[in-house]
Amino acid sequence: MSFEVVVVGGGIGGLTCAALLAARGARVCLLERASRAGGCAASFEHLGHEFETGAGLYAGWEPSGLHERVFAELPVAKPEAREVSPAYTVRLPGGEDVRVGVGLEEFCETLGAAFPECAGAAVNFYRDASQIADALRRAARQTPALACASKLQLMRLAASEPRLAPRILKARGDTAARHLKGTSARFRRFVDAQLQTFALCPSDTCSYLYAAVALAEPLRAAHELRGGAQAFADALVEAVTKSGGTVRLDTTALRLSFDAQGRANGVTLLTGETVGATRAVVSNLTAWDTFGKLVGAERTPAHVRARLKNLRGQGVYQIFMSLDEEAARRLPSDRVLASQDDSAFMLGAAPAWDARAPEGKRAATVTAFTDAEQWFTFHADEAGHEGQDARSLEALWSRLHAALPELGSGAEVFETATPRTFYERTRRRFGMVCGLPRTPELTGGAGALTHRTSVPNLLMVGDTVFPGAGLAAVTHSALIVAGELAPRTVRA
Ligand SMILES: Cc1cc2nc3c(=O)[nH]c(=O)nc-3n(C[C@H](O)[C@H](O)[C@H](O)COP(=O)(O)OP(=O)(O)OC[C@H]3O[C@@H](n4cnc5c(N)ncnc54)[C@H](O)[C@@H]3O)c2cc1C
Repeated sequence: MSFEVVVVGGGIGGLTCAALLAARGARVCLLERASRAGGCAASFEHLGHEFETGAGLYAGWEPSGLHERVFAELPVAKPEAREVSPAYTVRLPGGEDVRVGVGLEEFCETLGAAFPECAGAAVNFYRDASQIADALRRAARQTPALACASKLQLMRLAASEPRLAPRILKARGDTAARHLKGTSARFRRFVDAQLQTFALCPSDTCSYLYAAVALAEPLRAAHELRGGAQAFADALVEAVTKSGGTVRLDTTALRLSFDAQGRANGVTLLTGETVGATRAVVSNLTAWDTFGKLVGAERTPAHVRARLKNLRGQGVYQIFMSLDEEAARRLPSDRVLASQDDSAFMLGAAPAWDARAPEGKRAATVTAFTDAEQWFTFHADEAGHEGQDARSLEALWSRLHAALPELGSGAEVFETATPRTFYERTRRRFGMVCGLPRTPELTGGAGALTHRTSVPNLLMVGDTVFPGAGLAAVTHSALIVAGELAPRTVRA
């Protein structure tokens, strides 16, 4: 059977792209290997608790925001999103809490009180970051594929931001640390905990422009979704099928098939069947897996192979737990980012208005980053993995209670997840999640991975390509690809 476009992978990136293309009239087929769509955003059920994989904090759901624009095109209602403030609380190593959210002016007052030793420099850092983030957001709306904008497009964008464009251009290769001069070590620790979580690298390697967006976003608006990110994925599946598209679950893509000119003309499945694609194939796999699995080593140019070999992401270790309502109320907010020495972890509890748990309980997740590869390398057998899991649980559990003593005995462990669990669920290389470290080179420079590939009609969506990780970012990447294959002005 043939379609115009075949989308491989039903994460939020692939689903959004397929839903937009189907709504714009393209004949689309989406292939997803799991029995439920959602990928990293899929939730799972255990003893009456519906656990979200993520921290449950989402950008772009404000009125006229990114997701409203996407759902305006789709034949389904968007999931219920409620604003949350503070978006999260950072608990510093000394036990002090800094609430992040509410709006820039109020947050600047919070900063002044929390970091009196460098209040002026800290406030200036955030004010500059917010201005730059706003300008970059306007630019991305005007030219979604910002990372591969032409010279003419860049000149137009610069002309529309005469005050900020010179500063942005000058800061393109900067790390965030360059802009933190005059701030205290405590403040830098506060910034680093957030960047390690949202950008996978601390301020001395993180791109300043990416840091500006990541740090300013929760000050604009942050939302929680009823039913979590799974509700978003389910709505997108419904949208694809309602628009006449096809969603095939439990369907594993093995590799692309090519015509004599080297263009992709279909996707061969694990079963041996080939699903034809007359115009394009969209891969929602990571960049490593797109080339390593779908394109294949012999068709991947040597420079791409070398580049991908040197890129490393991160894995996560997670505890899924049942949280007593009283314990949840003792926390400073539903999400706490605990900063400890050089590392950090995030506790995220389902909101009280959508507890996803039996009466008096809430589903909650604790997430810490870990070196993904070593979960695969050093085990002779399954017992080795279980041993590492047990040691990691003990270590994270005691870090959790040391940083958040108010939890008391109000939390009970249900499940854990390791990079190997993520590999089982999504087949992402080494179970690496949350995209790539947002260094200056990978963010705006010539090294940025974009939706384009070495195969002319193979495009990528997802969190390893521009603009990066998070549901809003992968939605943006889907808008780029849908815009290229079926521009809205022509089809809508
Ligand atoms: C622990 C954690 C916490 C997070 N917290 C948040 C948060 O609070 N807010 C936020 O916005 N973001 C959060 N994120 C990030 C966000 O979840 C991801 O960036 C996003 O879901 C990635 O989507 P994706 O489209 O890139 O692909 P993925 O989710 O990786 O989906 C890819 C899909 O492809 C399928 N697939 C793989 N191989 C094949 C094959 N051969 N054939 C067919 N199908 C295949 C997989 O099964 C999967 O469904 C979090 C992520 C993690 C891991």
